[in-house]
Amino acid sequence: MSTKACIICGYYSSRPFCPSCEERAIKYFDKICLFIKESPKPTVLEVYGETFIPLKVIYGLKDMGLLDIVPGNGRLVVNSQKLAAR
Ligand SMILES: [Zn+2]
Repeated sequence: MSTKACIICGYYSSRPFCPSCEERAIKYFDKICLFIKESPKPTVLEVYGETFIPLKVIYGLKDMGLLDIVPGNGRLVVNSQKLAAR
């Protein structure tokens, strides 16, 4: 596994977020889930525009497998399989 830096704080991490930022990222994720529930099938940019969650965090959550981005139309969907495993 390659050396990576935490998306939020830049601290060394083998995952997209270091453990303390991962907690923050999960809170962002919960906010995204709520947003998707209220406005189904938003694009990544719509989520970003409405929730002000940094794009790099959204992509980090995708790297964690919690979110998927539909190829072609850029819509953000919650990976419910991962959600169930949480
Ligand atoms: Zn961090």
